[in-house]
Amino acid sequence: MTHYAKRFPDANGYFGAYGGAFLPPQLEPHFAEIAAAYERLSVAADFQAELRHIRKHFQGRPTPVSYARRLSDACGGARIYLKREDLNHSGAHKLNHCMAEALLAKHMGKTKLIAETGAGQHGVALATAAAYFGMECEIHMGEVDIAKEHPNVVRMRLLGAQVVPVGFGGRTLKEAVDSAFVSYLEQADHAIYAIGSVVGPHPFPKMVRDFQAIVGEEARGQFLELVGQLPDVVAACVGGGSNAMGIFMGFVDDEEVELHGVEPLGHGPTPGEHAATMSYGTEGMIHGFKCLLLQNEKGEPSAVHSVASGLDYPGVGPEHCALKASGRATYATADDKEALDAFFALSRMEGIIPALESAHAVAYAMKIAPSLPGKTILVNLSGRGDKDIDYVTKTFGFGDA
Ligand SMILES: *Cc1c(COP(=O)(O)O)cnc(C)c1O
Repeated sequence: MTHYAKRFPDANGYFGAYGGAFLPPQLEPHFAEIAAAYERLSVAADFQAELRHIRKHFQGRPTPVSYARRLSDACGGARIYLKREDLNHSGAHKLNHCMAEALLAKHMGKTKLIAETGAGQHGVALATAAAYFGMECEIHMGEVDIAKEHPNVVRMRLLGAQVVPVGFGGRTLKEAVDSAFVSYLEQADHAIYAIGSVVGPHPFPKMVRDFQAIVGEEARGQFLELVGQLPDVVAACVGGGSNAMGIFMGFVDDEEVELHGVEPLGHGPTPGEHAATMSYGTEGMIHGFKCLLLQNEKGEPSAVHSVASGLDYPGVGPEHCALKASGRATYATADDKEALDAFFALSRMEGIIPALESAHAVAYAMKIAPSLPGKTILVNLSGRGDKDIDYVTKTFGFGDA
């Protein structure tokens, strides 16, 4: 464990002023049970050995670090490298924490995984983990999202998960969370709730961070081997913040390495048109934890937008808020258009079709590279873009000017 990881969060799940667990009383004992189990298993040799085995023999880890030569040449300035989470099984970093959450459930004697999903990416990763372990899987999803994200609904069902349509309120992610919590409460004796990012009540921000830290651990060693020194900048997109925390963990104790989070600016800085929480949010509370939040005067989460549905969240992981407050990490934005340009550029120049989420981090690297000659930028390429190709080409064509 790194020096930093030992200090954060504190015993109550706080990263400075952010985090904690604000739960309805009925849910408190269940989250406390998960926290206690994780406390025990995180230092248990058999749990860690089984997780290492899964990462190597099922997920296909380690994923490589690649030098993006043609992209770097086209930008001029810094050399851009990619940590290839697009090559992780199921095509994104999400399986890193879903496999570990399912393994935790197994060690706790649970037989079922429950979660909500927005665009369906977390649902698919969790359904994959459930199939591997032979567990039941129940995914709550708003009816609006079910209609929009049909291929992911099909994937979840093929993987054996039950998709529960949520038909009240706005029928999207927020209602799916409410519905999943109600169902979990009824089944907590044999099920666990599996959160999809470094968000939610303690212990999830810490647990999901620890499970994603494999990305940074691998990347640090691989980068040293490939380049002979540490990167000058490490950049990653931030939705809830799990892929960014994952790669940041490998470098957080190396003070000379700059950590840059990249948030979606959507159509621009007008409220409702973006999801750049770190840049425009204020302190608030969502889904049982304290963080920076895009909110109205009443403290209700604002409507958010990004071309990448995986980045479309009005809150953000509490650890990112603390890293910003301490100055250890900085946060910038890329808008829809910049992300799309990067999506096409990486496809054409490197033969890698990135997820629209990851394209935000690539766009940011392309933007800063010209002003950093002689430096290196390591981008966490959090996922592949196969899921986005129909939407992108129908809406924007093939990127020929
Ligand atoms: C879900 C997702 C994200 C955003 O989630 P984080 O928790 O911020 O990492 C980013 N990239 C991909 C490919 C995703 O599927």
